[in-house]
This record gives sequence, structure tokens and C-alpha cells, in this order.
Amino acid sequence: MERHLREVDSEVAAIFDRELERQQQTLVLIPSENYASRAVLAATGSVMTNKYAEGYPHARYYHGCEFVDEVEELAIARAKTLFGAEHANVQPVAGTQANMAVYYALLEHGDTVMAMALDQGGHLTHGNRFNFSGRYYNFVSYGVDRESEVIDYDALEQQALAVRPKMIVAGASAYPRSLDFARFRAIADAVGAHLMVDMAHISGLVAAGVHDNPVPYADVVTSTTHKTLRGPRSAFILCRQELAKAIDKAVFPGVQAGPLMHVIAAKAVMFKEAMDPTFQEYGRKVIANAAVMANTLLARGIRLVSGGTDTHLMLADLRQLNLTGRAGADLLREADIVTNFNTIPYDTQPPTQGSGIRPGSPALTTRGMGEADMVTVANWMADILEHPDDAARIREIKEAVHALCARFPLYTNLQANAGCA
Ligand code: PLP
Repeated sequence: MERHLREVDSEVAAIFDRELERQQQTLVLIPSENYASRAVLAATGSVMTNKYAEGYPHARYYHGCEFVDEVEELAIARAKTLFGAEHANVQPVAGTQANMAVYYALLEHGDTVMAMALDQGGHLTHGNRFNFSGRYYNFVSYGVDRESEVIDYDALEQQALAVRPKMIVAGASAYPRSLDFARFRAIADAVGAHLMVDMAHISGLVAAGVHDNPVPYADVVTSTTHKTLRGPRSAFILCRQELAKAIDKAVFPGVQAGPLMHVIAAKAVMFKEAMDPTFQEYGRKVIANAAVMANTLLARGIRLVSGGTDTHLMLADLRQLNLTGRAGADLLREADIVTNFNTIPYDTQPPTQGSGIRPGSPALTTRGMGEADMVTVANWMADILEHPDDAARIREIKEAVHALCARFPLYTNLQANAGCA
């Protein structure tokens, strides 16, 4: 594989080499990133990419689908088993298309939906005005309590009773606390709304049994596959049997045509990996590592939104350090610590700056790092953020980062393979 790439396109191969080197040499704290296994990479770069397969297994609009049918059926069966769902659709190409398909299936143009505001932790597809969701549906945002910075379920219920949404969306991109799906269900029932859970960020934690599973509570659950679930860059939808037809029709032919069969194959592999007991261990370590990172930052005087985390991520408020989130993330990047800036609830900074950073533990945990390493990394972060002008200390930390990365190599022996498994 790799030899062919190098022979045909040395320019692309060289870029792969540099990207692999970047991944190897940096500490990734972006909580939505992870490292897919070699098996997942192999499936993604496989002959399955050659096949058109519009339709569903045994009901395709193309011939020659017998083997892609098999792989899609495997992926569906594994998704259902892993999450205890009645129905799974594994064709959405990304989280955005999964959410789009659910809205397309269950809503009419202009219907009212309640979802978490983007600047309080929600996602673009939860009704942001620049996104299709905000343009085609009447999204009404809910947020977190100003004091506690967690969802106030009583206030949410009052708002739902006033707004009478057709759907309530639970799930977020930057919410550090676990979600109470039973409470969301009760609120949805009180107003006769569908409950959709977007578990994109936490699906790996759910699979590992370290976060409540939304499937028994929600009408529909969507998820990406490349975050805590550690699969290829993609998504899937779970739902109850009675909605299966509507969801399938909304994905194809509603919002997509030819499915990416190589990525569906990679999702089958990912679901298998997530069923292995080692994945439960991974989930426990992700949570433990995030807790240690959070406690270390708190001990260094850095304020965390809601006072900490129950999950894989935290939101650090940099205002008292007189840094915007962007400035903080830029500083950390100088030491090869890669994180992302984020707004915090009730932020006065625009989204292009944000007052916070959103560090998380999934990628470092996949590399094999443990709690002692989290203490080290969090202290480096605090040192840099507290002393932004200390170039010598930043250089020193960058060297230490490289030494730590070298102790936890990525894809050992892959260096020569330029990312081709
Ligand atoms: N939903 C949530 C909660 C997310 O965090 C994300 C991605 O960050 C998505 C949906 C969209 O996923 P994608 O980037 O694959 O379209």
C-alpha cells in the first residue's frame, strides 16, 4: 500500500509523513480527537471504497453488493448489540448528516426544537443560525444555570412547557457533566416531544459503560464515531423499531446517496473493538485521567466551568489569567500541547476568541498515558498559562513534551508507512 503511494505521489506521501510526525510529537488534548487503530485504518483504506451501494443490504440500486451487504449487516448488528438498540443506521457520513437525517425524518420545516445553545456547550447542528438547522427549523436554545453552570432541569421543564417543542435535543460538544437522560425523557413526555440524544462526544464512554446509556430513554440517538469511540471519521443513528423506516428513508434517499462502504466496514471493526473488555478499561481510564487533569488544574488555581468534570473533557476559564481562550491555546501550541479554545457559558468573548480552553483525556489515554502523566501535563499547562512571557520555560516544556511523546509512540513501526496500515 505504502510503496504504491510513495511511487505514485511522493508529495502526498511526504505530507503524510509530516502529519504522522506532528501527531507523534504533540500532546493532543482536543477531546473530540483520538487515534483510530491500525485495523480501523486498514478498513478505511480498503477495496470497499470501490463499491457503489445506494440503498440498504439486499435492497440496493446496484449489483455486486453481496459483500458490502455482509459488512453493513455486521456493522448494524454490532451497533445494536453494543448499545442495546432496536435499530441502527450506519450510513451517515458524519455527525452533521446524522442529525440532519433525524430532523428530516421527524420534523417539518419551521417546527420548534429545543437544544443547548452553541455558546453554552451545544453544537452547530443544534440550531445555530449559520447552520441548516437554525435556518430550516425554529430552534429555541436552553443553557446552563448562571451560578452552577450545569443544566437546571426544573428551568428546562418550565421552558419546554412554555415553548411546546416538537423535539428536544440532549447532548453537547462542550458540557463537562453527565446528562440525566431519564429527566430529559420525563420533560419530553410532559410536552409530547420527541427526545433526540446526540451522544457524539460521549458514545465511547457509553459503550464502555462509564456514562449512562441514552438508548432506553431516547426516541433517536445520533453519534459520531471518531471521538471517544475511536473509530473512523463518521457517524450512525440508533432508534426504536417504530421509527426505523422513517430514519432509514431520511438517510437514503433523504439526505445522502451512495454510502461510504469502506467507512462502514471501518465502523464494523470499531464496534467490535468497543465490545472488547479492554475498551471498558479504556473508558474507565479516560474518566480517571480527566478527573486527575481537572483536579491538578484546580489545585493550580485555574477555574473550571461547573467546578470540574464527570466526563472526558473540562472547560478551563482563563479570564482570571487575563488570557482569551485563543491566546491560551496559542501559547500551549508553542510547547506542542494541542488544545482548542472555546466559549464558556455567558461568555462575553466572541466564538473566534472564547474565554476558555476545552482539554480532554481520550487521545492521551489511547496512547497509554496514566494519571501521573496527567498531573505532569496539567502542571505544564498551568506553568505556561500563568507565565505566558517565559519563553525559556515554554521551550523547556516543549522538550519535555517531546520526551513524553517518545515514551508513548503512536503506531509503532508505522513511521515508514506514512499512515497506511
Ligand atoms: N454533534 C456533536 C455533539 C458534536 O460534538 C459534533 C462534532 O463535533 C457533531 C455533532 C458533528 O459531527 P461532524 O463533525 O462529524 O459533522
